[in-house]
Amino acid sequence: MGTGRLTIDLDAITANWWTLDARAGGRAGAVVKADAYGLGAEKVAPVLRRAGADAFFVAVAEEGGALRRALGPGPEIYVFAGHMAGDHDMIRDLDLIPMLNSGAQVKRHVSGMADRPFAVQLDTGMNRLGMEPAEWAALRDDLLARNPRLIASHLACADEPDHPMNARQLDAFRGMTEGVEAPLSLAATGGTLLGEAFHFHRTRPGVGLYGGEPFAAAEPVVTLDLPVIQVREVAAGETVGYGNTWAATRPVRIATLAAGYADGLIRAMGGRARLWHDGRPCPLAGRVSMDLLTVDITGLDETPDTLQLLSREQTVDHLAHAAGTIGYEILTSLGSRYERRYVGGAP
Ligand SMILES: *Cc1c(COP(=O)(O)O)cnc(C)c1O
Repeated sequence: MGTGRLTIDLDAITANWWTLDARAGGRAGAVVKADAYGLGAEKVAPVLRRAGADAFFVAVAEEGGALRRALGPGPEIYVFAGHMAGDHDMIRDLDLIPMLNSGAQVKRHVSGMADRPFAVQLDTGMNRLGMEPAEWAALRDDLLARNPRLIASHLACADEPDHPMNARQLDAFRGMTEGVEAPLSLAATGGTLLGEAFHFHRTRPGVGLYGGEPFAAAEPVVTLDLPVIQVREVAAGETVGYGNTWAATRPVRIATLAAGYADGLIRAMGGRARLWHDGRPCPLAGRVSMDLLTVDITGLDETPDTLQLLSREQTVDHLAHAAGTIGYEILTSLGSRYERRYVGGAP
């Protein structure tokens, strides 16, 4: 076996959804954009459906196709990008709910398919997606008369509980939705953890389902085992890898593993990330190559067949910190060359 093995624990995803759903008083949907954060929406979404999720969120309408096939008719599928030009047939055929972000999208939706369900996204300060207060004020009465399925906004700083932006956005959202009877939604994973005031009628957790921060109590979901291709003895003073950036200060054993930056192992993690065997850490030695890692296994008594890069010992967030990024990017970068093994998830 030349490729790494990525193990995805569907029971851990279920447990994380249950916990986040309970925190939100039974109001959680599930965000499965970007192929369920790289873990495979076709496998993950039906498991979340069985766990009780009845609303799913994707980034763009194109992501709704495989998802609708996996889920079958029934569960709601919301599209964050809203109603884009050319989406008409997908929205109708796949029964998608676009989250309208602007007056232009409202016009497109209402003129083409006034009878189809829609949601509305409001901008409460992030300045990324959604209607600004003035635009919303102008369209509000007409849109509310058409019974939106959901009126939503998104928090910019929810992963920092003490950030004053959270209260500012909560106030803005309350102000913009005063007197509105349609269901409301403000919280993703971070907002769910900020408390009940942020929950409204529907929460939209994503990263927490997949074991990532800011859901510190998450069950880890992914394990990544990388096969050892060969092992060599390296004398003190010899170098390892591109650019001669790493030199042995004593005689060491170097294992070469079959994965690299083409598999989503971000090059910036070199120097800080470690691989693990039986609870023992082994430092990366030298730069991450396209298809290979070199690892100092001098501290191990034996020569293992595989080493672990992701596990309970080193989660996606630990690896993200080593690479100067966030867990979301580690997850969504996980490459297509791995053998993917799903465990758990039995109905
Ligand atoms: C990605 C996203 C979510 C999910 O966010 P997490 O931080 O992964 O829980 C929710 N809502 C919107 C609008 C998003 O873009």
